[in-house]
Amino acid sequence: MHIRDIFQTRPTTFSFEFFPPRTDRASDDLFQTIAQLQALRPSFVSVTYGAGGSTRERTHDLIVRIQRETRLTAVSHLTCVCHSRDELAGILDRYSQSGIENILALGGDLPRGRADHDRNCDAFQFADQLVAFIRAHDRAPDPRGFGIGVAGFPEGHPATPNRLKEIEYLKRKVDAGADYICTQLFFSNADFYDFRERCDLAGIDVPIVAGIMPITSKDNLARMAEMALGARFPARLLRAIGRCGDDPEGVEKVGIHWATEQCRDLLDNQVRGLHFYTLNRSNATRCIYENLGVKDSGALENRPHFASTNHPAPNDASVHVPERADRAPQV
Ligand SMILES: Cc1cc2nc3c(=O)[nH]c(=O)nc-3n(C[C@H](O)[C@H](O)[C@H](O)COP(=O)(O)OP(=O)(O)OC[C@H]3O[C@@H](n4cnc5c(N)ncnc54)[C@H](O)[C@@H]3O)c2cc1C
Repeated sequence: MHIRDIFQTRPTTFSFEFFPPRTDRASDDLFQTIAQLQALRPSFVSVTYGAGGSTRERTHDLIVRIQRETRLTAVSHLTCVCHSRDELAGILDRYSQSGIENILALGGDLPRGRADHDRNCDAFQFADQLVAFIRAHDRAPDPRGFGIGVAGFPEGHPATPNRLKEIEYLKRKVDAGADYICTQLFFSNADFYDFRERCDLAGIDVPIVAGIMPITSKDNLARMAEMALGARFPARLLRAIGRCGDDPEGVEKVGIHWATEQCRDLLDNQVRGLHFYTLNRSNATRCIYENLGVKDSGALENRPHFASTNHPAPNDASVHVPERADRAPQV
């Protein structure tokens, strides 16, 4: 299904992200995970794009397999880094032939081990150029072209400390043809609400989907800090994890509880979509749904009559809208 139709028909979207596994065994395990998560009726799932050649093939294989073997809508990530125009056009053609309709267009980071790679050799330096390239591709399965998502960073992207410029760059991606924004993980909803308002002020009016990654272990927390450079870990969260000492189950419970409260608050504040970074496991996501008291995404959707792209109807008194980000609940 084209991503525009998904956003058109669903007031709130729920999506799960996977990465391509390295072995056949891991691939089978992932398909079990996908089967378990399919029961939660996500609006779509997405598959990350790796840095090296063989991982890149695995993204293609996984996305095509999801398309063929499940009823899920699959969104493939694609990055600018280490790619020529011809290579990118070839990838888009292959996706078209397999009926893949949606792409998350990203800048990408330099792969480990290729720190000496000259980015000037790449066709595109920034994601807005990739968005424009995908938009111009005229062999997509749908006459509207590919559905296109882009990344957004509520707490700021580390390469652009100037936050005004950053929003300008984000707007360029939307103006180039992006259909929605999916955010980096964050742990304080106030950061998301403020980002959403800043997007509004900048005239960015595509749906903004909130990225949620529950902490499931202390190792996982350390990896997140490394992967999502600049991410803030609130003291309240770190204190709660600290209290668990050496108890891994305790850490997982705290992480899932925190993510549940984030989701509950985001849903109360009319978030347009929740995107779960699953790390190829189903447990944490399933627990969050359980904690929210629902069997599947259908039960979590916000009101069917939604007024604008990211905000509730102005005169609906039953809906609490934080006037300012600092009045939003401090989750
Ligand atoms: C939801 C999500 C999914 C992701 N999936 C993947 C994945 O599958 N594979 C992967 O390798 N990485 C992935 N990433 C990581 C992402 O590729 C990196 O964080 C990357 O550094 C930024 O990507 P971007 O698409 O925002 O790049 P861009 O939009 O190109 O921005 C990169 C930096 O350049 C700045 N910038 C943008 N335009 C300009 C300009 N015209 N002039 C000067 N500066 C500019 C931006 O402000 C930012 O600091 C993902 C990130 C998110 C949030």
